[in-house]
Amino acid sequence: MPSDHSLDLQAELTRARAAVRAAALVTRAVQADLVHASTLEKSDKSPVTVADFASQAVVAATLSRLGSAVTAMVGEEDAADLRGDEASVRRSQVVAHARGVLGAELSEDEVLGFIDVGGHAPRPGGTYWTLDPIDGTKGFLRSEQYAIALALIHDGQVIVGALGCPRLPVGDGSDDEGVLMSAVRGGGASAEPLFRTGELRVIRVSDVQDPAKARFCESVESGHSDQDQSVQIATALGITTPGLRMDSQAKYAGLARGDASIYLRLPTRKDYQEKIWDHAAGLIVVEEAGGRVTDVRGADLDFSHGKTLAGNSGVIATNGPIHAAVLAAVTKVLG
Ligand code: AMP
Ligand code: MG
Repeated sequence: MPSDHSLDLQAELTRARAAVRAAALVTRAVQADLVHASTLEKSDKSPVTVADFASQAVVAATLSRLGSAVTAMVGEEDAADLRGDEASVRRSQVVAHARGVLGAELSEDEVLGFIDVGGHAPRPGGTYWTLDPIDGTKGFLRSEQYAIALALIHDGQVIVGALGCPRLPVGDGSDDEGVLMSAVRGGGASAEPLFRTGELRVIRVSDVQDPAKARFCESVESGHSDQDQSVQIATALGITTPGLRMDSQAKYAGLARGDASIYLRLPTRKDYQEKIWDHAAGLIVVEEAGGRVTDVRGADLDFSHGKTLAGNSGVIATNGPIHAAVLAAVTKVLG
């Protein structure tokens, strides 16, 4: 736990939860509005682009309005892509959706200004938010799993995280969808309904001790994680249940509350560097729920390299007790 900062982490956690909650309203609205069977057939990605920008604007605006002490944000989106004449239709859709959540009085320039907040270039030792405004864009377009992932990084450590999963069950026994998981370093992890008020419940990873009894999860996209190798790893561990395929950091969320006990992300290319916004929020939620996150070599994820996890390769996350066994199987299969 870093001590050389004067941040009120509980207050930042509260702001992060509110920001993700507001962004989820906008992504859900865009989905209802723009994602139709026809966009999928044409592989038209414009709905996800609109939702990505509007989500980033809403997160930055909410953090700012609630008085976050951290004004720097490393976001996935760049508002420059929205400023040209050719982007005018898309721009007005983004502005309309952002106004729907932030208020009708907001000007176009203000919306673009909030998106620009995400353009911070991270420096080693710095303190900044990192945001994936829509993680799992393919899942969003298929109306399956996606996430809004916001985390606070200080000196290469993730210290706060809020992970909104609009399509995951709340997990309170109801049929409702939408769960918000959050964590602060050293303070445990919690889950609450994303779209309504409800109890903030402490979450824990599964207590599976026998790797053969573990459920594993991985990407839907075979280009994001090697699915042939994951079958070999599962077989080596004696797992007979097929893996759960899910887009986005919803995988970390499932692990954090015990729906699965292993998350494998096995490199499909030597040169791919994982992005910090694809892992920061998920990592702290899983770790604070009692789990363990490393790369495929067993090293901790290192957030001090800027926008990417340049020092790591792939990701293995588990409930903890089975981590060594999973790592051994990964080492065996990957060679
Ligand atoms: P997932 O939904 O878990 O499959 O992950 C979605 C994320 O995968 C996106 O946000 C991308 O940043 C990231 N991604 C893109 N290409 C790759 C790749 N070759 N390997 C791993 N992750 C990737
Ligand atoms: Mg992503």
